[in-house]
Order: sequence, then structure tokens, then C-alpha cells
Amino acid sequence: MAFVNENFLKLPGNYLFAEIATRVAAYKTGHPNANVISLGIGDVTRPLAAAVVEAMQKASAEMSSEETMRGYAPDRGYQFLLDAIVKNDFAARGIDITQDEVFVSDGAKSDTGNFGDVLSADNLVAVTDPVYPVYVDTNVMGGRAGELKGDAWSRIEYLPCTIQNNFTPALPAKRVDVIYLCYPNNPTGTTLSKAELKKWVDYALQNESLILFDAAYEAFIRESDVPHSIYEIAGAKQVAVEFRSFSKTAGFTGVRCGYNVVPKELLVRTASGDKVALNSVWKRRQATKFNGTAYIVQRAAEAVYSPEGKRQVQETIGYYMENARVIKAGLESVGMKTYGGVNAPYIWVQTPGGCSSWEFFDRLLNELQIVSTPGAGFGASGEGFVRLTAFGKKAATLEAVERIKNWTL
Ligand code: PLP
Repeated sequence: MAFVNENFLKLPGNYLFAEIATRVAAYKTGHPNANVISLGIGDVTRPLAAAVVEAMQKASAEMSSEETMRGYAPDRGYQFLLDAIVKNDFAARGIDITQDEVFVSDGAKSDTGNFGDVLSADNLVAVTDPVYPVYVDTNVMGGRAGELKGDAWSRIEYLPCTIQNNFTPALPAKRVDVIYLCYPNNPTGTTLSKAELKKWVDYALQNESLILFDAAYEAFIRESDVPHSIYEIAGAKQVAVEFRSFSKTAGFTGVRCGYNVVPKELLVRTASGDKVALNSVWKRRQATKFNGTAYIVQRAAEAVYSPEGKRQVQETIGYYMENARVIKAGLESVGMKTYGGVNAPYIWVQTPGGCSSWEFFDRLLNELQIVSTPGAGFGASGEGFVRLTAFGKKAATLEAVERIKNWTL
């Protein structure tokens, strides 16, 4: 019999979303006529932009003819999409990223998860708390997390993000090798200013640490002092990998496209102290394990950068951000404390009266028929919060907010 990778066996089940589904299903069974509104999902609800659909149809037609069909895509992405990414996401912001630093993929979950392949198991890893669970779980799989003690892994450094520190994590108390930062943040919906992000880049430069910067929610940024890319900060190209996704930007959760940037000047070390360019290691990894994102999908992603695509995508983001505004304003009007929701589609709500995340989840479900996500599921510092999302339909979101406003807590 073959031996299993026992790191996988260390992982507890995905209790959060399974438990939410179980509780919602039980409620619906007991109340078959209830109009349950989900503000818990992190998935989009608006259709793809017309420019994107048109590009996909055109690309599909090309695939049907011998002259224009495409087979395997280039490992790092088609020239047309690399061009559009470099020009629109970086050059337009004065950032010098070259095409051979960009790797097109099937999304940021795969990229943030797969990136551990090129990092030694000896690295000491830091994550913010609460955190997008993929960063932690994939480090468990990669043997970097140690043992689970209570709800914390013994070799992971947790950086609490709380009301007290305005959801801005303090620099690690001890030196760490790898730091995951996600801004705008899932789940808190909060951001770092340029000055705050600079502290992290400076820390990484001084300590020769690597920052894995997840900018999946970049398109939701509204305020001018919030960096869209970590490369807006001087020196970041020496220390940071950036992950981007078309999922929330352009409703691609079911289409699947993202990319990451690994600057050529970013170096890592061997155990014996030799320096290696991370770009060439990641390139080798992708060339071996990834066979490219579908041509039709890359044409769809290219269309996001066309003038019509940009306008249509912004319209949809505006729709979601109006939901965010309505949720935030509605909850605050009845005295609830909310965070985030200004540069991100997530609203982080403090549970009233000091009740636990799960208690408040149950009350929202049983008394108002609203589904939320308990903050405790994202880490210990998420206790005492629930996450609401702005990705719902407008009418349902308005209805949910009215129910909360008319609620006697
Ligand atoms: N990163 C963060 C912080 C996310 O919240 C998500 C999705 O919810 C992802 C990455 C995954 O994005 P993708 O759909 O591109 O895999």
C-alpha cells in the first residue's frame, strides 16, 4: 500500500462552510416557506459583462475552424493578455512590470495555494488573523504549519487584526520568512494605506522576508490612499509576489482566470546560502505542472480591459458597492458597529452585546432568515464578528437590511 502525505491528515474538516450549510438546511426544512436571504456567500451574482461574453463567443467560433483553432496555451499566458495586464494594471499606475514577470492562471486560489510548492518546508510563515483559510491550510499540506493546538498551528505566526489596532496587523514580534497579506481584506473588508503597506515592505527588505500579497479585491478600491498593487511601494519588487483574480473583478468565479506577478529581482535562498531568482523557480513549476489557461477564457479576460469591458465591469462593481453602502449604513443606523465595506465587498460586523459569532449567526438565521458567515471561522480574532457580503442581489440585500433595522435585539 502506498504511503499518504500525512500533512493532509492533520487538517480538520472544513467545519465553517459545512456547518453553515447544515444549519441553513435544517432551518429551511423546519420552515419550508421562509424567505432565507444569504449575505454569507463570497460568490458573485451579476452576469458576465456583455463585452466578455462577446469575446468568448468570438473565441469559441475561432476554435471551430481548422485555421484558427488553438491547442495548448503558452504556460505563462497568451501575448495579448500579458500585454493587456502589463499595460492596464501596472504601466497605467507607473509600475514597471514586464511580461516575463506575469503568469496567467486559473485563479488566485490555485496560485496562492500552489505557491508553497516553491518554498521550503523550513520557512516560518505569518498570516493575519482572521485570514482567508487557503493560506493556512496549504501551509499545513506543505508541512510548514507544525501541529494544531486548540485553533492555532504551532509553527504559524498569527498577526491579530482587531478593533484595537484598527485591523492593521503589527509587524511580527519575531523574524518570519514568509508573510501573507490580503488587501483589500477578506474577511474584514479593511485596507492598508500606502504608509502602512510600506512598513511591511521595509520589514521584508530588512529581514529578507517574502511577502505573498493577495490583491483579489483590488477592483473594489475607492479611496485614493489605498494601494492597488504592492509594487506601488518602493522596493516591493525585491520582496513581494502579487496575486490577482478576475473572479470578483469581472464575475469570473465560474470562468476561472487570474494571474500572479513574480518580479525577476526577487531572490530567495538555498539552505547553503546561494541566491536564486524566484521567477525562474516558479516558471519551472508552472511549465511542469500547469498547461495554461483556456484560450477562450484568456480572450474573455482580455475583454475586461477593453473600453466597453472596463465600463461594464465598473458598473457591476458599482452595483455591489452600493449594496455594501446600504448594508453598512443600515446597520450603523441601528447602532451596530461595522468595519470594511468601503474599498471591499465585505462588511465585518461586531456582534452586539458580546455574543459569539455562532450565537449571532443563529439569531440572524432563526429570527431574521439571514445567512451570515461567523467570523470565528476565519481565526481566533474573528470571534465576536460576522461577515456580510455585498455580492447579493440588490432587492434581497435591501430586504435583509430592512429586517435588521426593524429587529428588536
Ligand atoms: N483570495 C481571496 C482573498 C479570496 O477571497 C478568494 C475567493 O474568495 C480568492 C483568493 C480566490 O479567487 P479565485 O476565484 O481567483 O480562485
